[in-house]
Amino acid sequence: MYWQEDKECMSRADLEQLQLERLQSTLYRVGTHVPFYSNKFGEMKLDYDAFDSLEDLRRLPFTVKQDMRDNYPYGLFAVPLRDVVRVHSSSGTTGTATVVGYSKNDINNWSDLVARILCAAGLTADDVVQIAFGYGLFTGGFGLHYGAERLGASVIPISAGNTKRQIRIMQDFKTTALVCTPSYALKMVDVMMELGVNPAGLSLKYGLFGAEPWSEAMRAEINEKLGIIATDNYGLSEVMGPGVAGECQECNGLHVNEDHFLVEILNPETLEPVAEGEVGELVVTTLTKEAFPVIRYRTRDLTRFLPGPCSCGRTFRKISRIIGRTDDMLIIKGVNVFPTQIESVLFEIEGTEPHYRIIVDRINHDDKITVQVEVVESIFFHEMKKQRQLVDKIKASLASELGIGVDVKLVEEKSLKRFEGKGDRVIDKRKL
Ligand SMILES: [Zn+2]
Repeated sequence: MYWQEDKECMSRADLEQLQLERLQSTLYRVGTHVPFYSNKFGEMKLDYDAFDSLEDLRRLPFTVKQDMRDNYPYGLFAVPLRDVVRVHSSSGTTGTATVVGYSKNDINNWSDLVARILCAAGLTADDVVQIAFGYGLFTGGFGLHYGAERLGASVIPISAGNTKRQIRIMQDFKTTALVCTPSYALKMVDVMMELGVNPAGLSLKYGLFGAEPWSEAMRAEINEKLGIIATDNYGLSEVMGPGVAGECQECNGLHVNEDHFLVEILNPETLEPVAEGEVGELVVTTLTKEAFPVIRYRTRDLTRFLPGPCSCGRTFRKISRIIGRTDDMLIIKGVNVFPTQIESVLFEIEGTEPHYRIIVDRINHDDKITVQVEVVESIFFHEMKKQRQLVDKIKASLASELGIGVDVKLVEEKSLKRFEGKGDRVIDKRKL
């Protein structure tokens, strides 16, 4: 099942030719209409007209979030405002918001790219899609909405929040596909339990989750509790919003819509490409955006390329789910460690709560990492022998996941500070 088979299954040679042509016209567009890029190209004496290979991409300058803030609100737009039909913006919780614009063609492409992802996940025009992402300046709600309408599905634009109402609507309107964050899906399950609603009695078949990192263990839990097929999708407002990449029903990595986005995975420190299959920072160049094209945007999201080809028949490369953010990456004894790796291990061990804290220290020139893990009361007050067994089990699982030895300390339930959203779970005491 494909939405645009001629694109999604095109040969790599044809795809690369299309990417090169689209890159050339994007460079012309930004070089002519966006002073930020024309100045940069000028300083670098970059003759983008002479680009004749995708390898030339590596000569191009990077774009970072700060560049968008510095050009707030419309400085990076490549078309006059009269050609912009939609504006979205990031929340701006950690500084000036970033503002992105869309032309009519951009909205049209966006709808198709999201429709591709819904179709790859198994949805058709027969589905009833409940969109529990926030609408508004955030790209998630509207992005999925337009894509689901393009697919021909019946869309319920319920937006985020009011979980009891979400469940009621899900029952009454016979929702077959749920769109939200993975953690909200689990929250819905909790509320269903409180209300005595049996998920098996719902019409739900699919869950399309994104907008936050999650683990394979969390997917398994959602699939089991809701009786659905959960797929991951990826996007970011600076590049377009949802629709950049999404999983097919193989549920093993996200196909990047490579005819619209050129992606690289680079070592965040050297900015050189990582070895095939290694984790690095995802860097995206848009190939068709008219109103807000970006060149080599550093997403700060960490992922890796997965080996192909895929059994679904799509030829677009796959990336792994987002492993974390470059800002979260810890280097312990020279090994890259991501808090999400620790989280996924804890998720699989019975008796542990998903609340933990990571303490890193350097003692006698040796990095030491301690993971404090909350455990349920019955274990915390259990005999020492049981506690030791649990500690050994966690230690062994973490060592195998991370490739380095880790100390584990059990702490009482609810004793660690709670964070709203992306909390700072890492305390790095090393004086580097
Ligand atoms: Zn596939």
